[in-house]
Order: sequence, then C-alpha cells, then structure tokens
Amino acid sequence: MTNPVLAEGLGPFALPDFAAITDADFGPAFETALTEARAKIAAIAENPQPPSFANTIEALEMAEALLDRVAGIFYNLSGADSTPAREALMRDLAPKMAGFASEVTMNRPLFARIETLWAARGDLDLSPEQARVLELYHKMFVRSGAALAGADAARMTEIKERLAVLSTAFSQNLLADERDWFRPLTEDELEGLPEFVVAAAKAAGAERGQAGPVLTLNRSLIVPFLQFSPRRDLRETAYEAWVARGANGGATDNRLIAAEILNLREERAKLLGYDSFAAYKLDPEMAKTPETVRDLLMRVWTPAKAAAEADAAKLTAMMHDDGLNGDLEAWDWRYYSEKRRVAEHDFDEAALKPYLSLNAMLAAMFDTANRLFGLDFRPIEGPFYHPDVRGWEVSRKGRHIAVFLGDYFARPSKRSGAWCSAMRSQKKLGGETRPIVVNVCNFAKGDPCLLSYDDARTLFHEFGHALHQMLSDVTYQFVSGTSVARDFVELPSQLYEHWLEVPEVLERHARHWQTGEAMPKALRDKLLAAATYDQGFLTVEFVASALVDLAFHEGAAPADPMALQAQVLAEIGMPKAIRMRHATPHFGHVFSGDGYSAGYYSYMWSEVMDADAFAAFEETGDAFDPATAERLERCILSVGGSVPADAAWLAFRGKTPGVEALLKGRGLLEA
Ligand SMILES: [Zn+2]
Repeated sequence: MTNPVLAEGLGPFALPDFAAITDADFGPAFETALTEARAKIAAIAENPQPPSFANTIEALEMAEALLDRVAGIFYNLSGADSTPAREALMRDLAPKMAGFASEVTMNRPLFARIETLWAARGDLDLSPEQARVLELYHKMFVRSGAALAGADAARMTEIKERLAVLSTAFSQNLLADERDWFRPLTEDELEGLPEFVVAAAKAAGAERGQAGPVLTLNRSLIVPFLQFSPRRDLRETAYEAWVARGANGGATDNRLIAAEILNLREERAKLLGYDSFAAYKLDPEMAKTPETVRDLLMRVWTPAKAAAEADAAKLTAMMHDDGLNGDLEAWDWRYYSEKRRVAEHDFDEAALKPYLSLNAMLAAMFDTANRLFGLDFRPIEGPFYHPDVRGWEVSRKGRHIAVFLGDYFARPSKRSGAWCSAMRSQKKLGGETRPIVVNVCNFAKGDPCLLSYDDARTLFHEFGHALHQMLSDVTYQFVSGTSVARDFVELPSQLYEHWLEVPEVLERHARHWQTGEAMPKALRDKLLAAATYDQGFLTVEFVASALVDLAFHEGAAPADPMALQAQVLAEIGMPKAIRMRHATPHFGHVFSGDGYSAGYYSYMWSEVMDADAFAAFEETGDAFDPATAERLERCILSVGGSVPADAAWLAFRGKTPGVEALLKGRGLLEA
C-alpha cells in the first residue's frame, strides 16, 4: 500500500488524507522523499548537457516537490498537534534536514552550473520572474559559502559550527538564569496584586516545590508584578534580577559568548566579501544598508523620546504624590503607568468580550477580504488533522483560489503563539497548484469562544499572512506567497490589523453573541483610544535595542560589547527610567541564532510600511477603496518574492514610506 503522506491528495482540492495518515508514516515518507530529492539533484549536477534555466533552476524547483509535500504536512502537524512520536521525529529530522540543505549548497558541480547561468543571464531570454529566481538561487549559494575554496571554505565551515555551539550555549544560559532565580512571597507581599498574578505566583511556587507563592523571572509573571505591586523595594529587587539575566558571572554568563559571536560574524561576512556583518545581513533585505536602518530608527527615536520624557514627568509627579521623593526609576515606570492607564483609559475587558465572539470576528475578517479582494468563503467538511480545525474553500467569481484552515483553540499538543503556514504553496511550474493555508492560534476554547481585543488583532494578523499566501500568483515556489525579505514579510499581516480599527467594521460585526446588539459607541471609542497608550515607553525601549543591535554588527566587532552598549545609550540620551527592551546578555533575538541579528529593526520597518500602506486607503476617504485594494493585490500580495521588496512597494505606493503614519498610529506625532 502507498504511504498516505506521499500520496496525491483527496477530493476536489487534493487535501492530504488525514484520516489515513498515522505517525508511523512520516519517518518512511521523509526517507523516500529525501532519497528522491538527492537522486534528482545529483542528476542535475551530473547532467552532461550544458546548463540551461530549465535543466538547472526549474529542475531544482521540481527536485524537492515530494519533500515539500511531506514537510508541508509534517511541520504543520508537529507545531499544531504534537505527540511524543512527532517530537522524537522532529529531533531526528533536524540534523538530517540541515545536512541535506548544506549538501545542496556545497554541491560544487551544481553551483558551477548556477554560476554559468548567472554569468550568462543577459543572454538567456528570461522572464522577469525567472531572472529574479536565478538571482535568488545564486545569492543563496554564494551567501552560504559555495563560492569559497581551500582554506577559506574550511574556515567558513569551522565558523558556522562554532557559531551553532555558541548560540545554543547563549540560549541555555539564559534559560538557566531564568529558571534558577525565584523569590518566595509572603502574604503581605501579595497585597495589591490582582487575582491572576497571585494564581500565577502560586502555580510557579508549586512548580518549584515551594509551599507558597513565588516570584519568578518569567515575563508573564514579572511584568504584571512590576505593574501592580505597591512594594517599591520588592519591585527593585525583582527588576534588578530580571535585567541581570545572562550577566550574573560564573558558568551562565553570556558576555564573553556575545563578544565571540560578534567576532566570528564579522569574520564570516569578510570571507564573503562584505565590509561588515550588518552589510552582509542587510544586503537581501528591503532596507539594504545599515545607514538606511539607522536613519529610520533615529527619525522614530526623537519623537518617541520626547513623548517618553513627557510621560516620565507625569509619572514622577504621581510618585511624589505617593510621598516618595527622588527620581522615577526603571522599576517604577510600569507601576505608575498602570495607575495612569486606569485613570485615563480604563474599560472592562469582561464587558467587551461578549461583542467579540470568534464567529463574529471570523465574519468580520472574511467580509473585509470580500470587500477588498472579492473573495468568497464557503465552509467545507473535513476530516482535517484535528477535530477543532475548520475549513473553507476560498473562491473568486466561481474560480477556486485556495483552501483555508482555521485551527483556533489552545490545547496541550499545540505550541504557544499564533502563526500562519502553507501546507501547500501556490505555484504554476508543473501545473497550477493552489495553496492550502493554515492559521493557528491559541484562544481559550469556550461555548461560545469569546475573544479579547488582542486576540481579535491576532486573528486578523495571521489572516493577513494567509492572504499573502492565498493571493499568490507566481510560477516558481521559491518566490511564492510569504517567501519575501524578512523586513517585508510582516507588511501584509500588520496591514490587515488596521481594518479591525475601522469603526464601520466593529459597528457591523462586533455584536453581542446573545442579543445581536452592536457594541455601544462609548465602549468602542475607549477601546480604540487605548491603542496608543504608553507608546513613548514601548518605542524607546524597542528602538534602543535595535540601535545597539545595529552598532554591534557595523564595522569591527567590539572587544567589549557591554562598553559599546553603554556608549550607544549615552549617545542617544536614553531616558533614565527606561532600559533597553533586551540588554545584550539576554538579547536572544540577536545571539540565540542568526534570525534577527542586525535585524531587530525589522519589526519597526514593517510597521512604518503597514501604517503608510493603510494611509494609502485613508487618503482616498474609503478604507475599502477598490482601486487601492486592486493595486495592493497586483503589486504586493500576488507577486511574493518575484519582485524585490522595494520595487513592489514603489509600484504600490509610488514613494518611499515616511515615518509620519507610524508616529500618528503610535500617538507620537504631537510630541
Ligand atoms: Zn506575523
């Protein structure tokens, strides 16, 4: 019998045969698919015919088709519905898949064919998408070191291996420092804490074998403690322990590790011909150069700092009213800010939720996509991979566009967070393939399921990624859907969140799940006004971290990263009562791996664009303006990575994004 993971899908949409697939099928399916991919790649590399786009690049695209199918099913299931067997297979697969990827990029005859094509690119009569795909393949090989030879190639391998060891050590030290520190809380010390914080402290105590509640350094416990505890001495102790993670001396200290990582990154970038690691890292991104990133960050920094300083003065006055003299400190900010929030913006979450049922918000999300892009959503029957999963056929004027799966409820087998993935990506090579797109969230299951406003934003955010996959219209999977630059990928998702803020959308869809009544206008206004609260603080702590990240990777690696961190903060005039969101010894985004190194800025970069993109709709006076929606789809959502991000943006907006829309969205303009 055929392995059901390898089989063609079932029914009109060729869905995987979930009912037939068992955990035991995945291991053999991966073996078969990897063997097939290796054989096909070897055949490409050894092809006696001279290289052509078809026999090399298109053949490479097809070589991993089966592996893509198997991985598409397995990695969705292992994240959304894990089992011990799936976890064991994950551990087993990680080195195998990494080994396979490096085998491909280090395949010299294969790289030689790509080099030949690249050199002759002007004479190959390629379509713009083909030229872009060739460029991206060439870049991927070169950036992984395929063009190096001899001692340089050997050194590159050594550097990669050492960096992998160091980044793992960095994360493990951080985890150890977070795990080891706790402080028992007496009955008096619980005073002022809301019930949910007390419950979390008790649960943390039980986990650590303590008789009573304890405070830990887990963000979900320490942040509310700093917000609510009136005990300034305890806030200080807790805050100092929290920011000392990774810098406590001894075996778990991360400071020397950070220095070594920065050194090796610089050496790696230089081996590849770049001036600095930041130059190497930013080359494929939309921002392109460290100067552009710094310029953006500084344009946001100045008004954010002004707003934070104005807020600091208000919070200091509140502290003085409490009979405390002296300066506002970092452990005071969240406490006084919470008091101020209650005074200025308080509304009852419990009163809000009945208007935000999951079904109502799904209807809002689909209706928005219908008004913008003419998409229709029709529920379809499973079975899907879990009984909680719901499915819809997405079509436009009767034409099939995609299958969309929504997997919304938390369960122990699901990892935390929310994400979007394509179980099958859109492409046309080898026949039109329409995507299967999955949104996974962790909402508390209820009957009915009632969301918080944050949950509703998450729902819209992930659906923005889903639209990027579903509206994709390219030939090559390599550039399909969300396969775009890191500093561009959050644009469609963050942009989609804006439609939840359109009063008309809440008016139409945020209806009481029992009575069908619309949300009272006063509640809606309070909800929308609270969105810009404390943005001075949040922007300052973020931008400071992003500027330090950038400074670390520009120019020569610092001998003492802590000294450089201090220097950067002094230069920008960091407000006294705010610290970096992530200081160096616990800056996991930058040191636990390569993902966001010289890339922490990208969250804000995307936000600049989503704010400016939504402004394009607002400027027409219609949040659903058909011409702007058509341009968004044509220039950005349908092209994936087949067009460079900056060109796609320019085609949509006609000018580079300014920071004004972001500052307005964060309420920082008046500052
Ligand atoms: Zn996202």
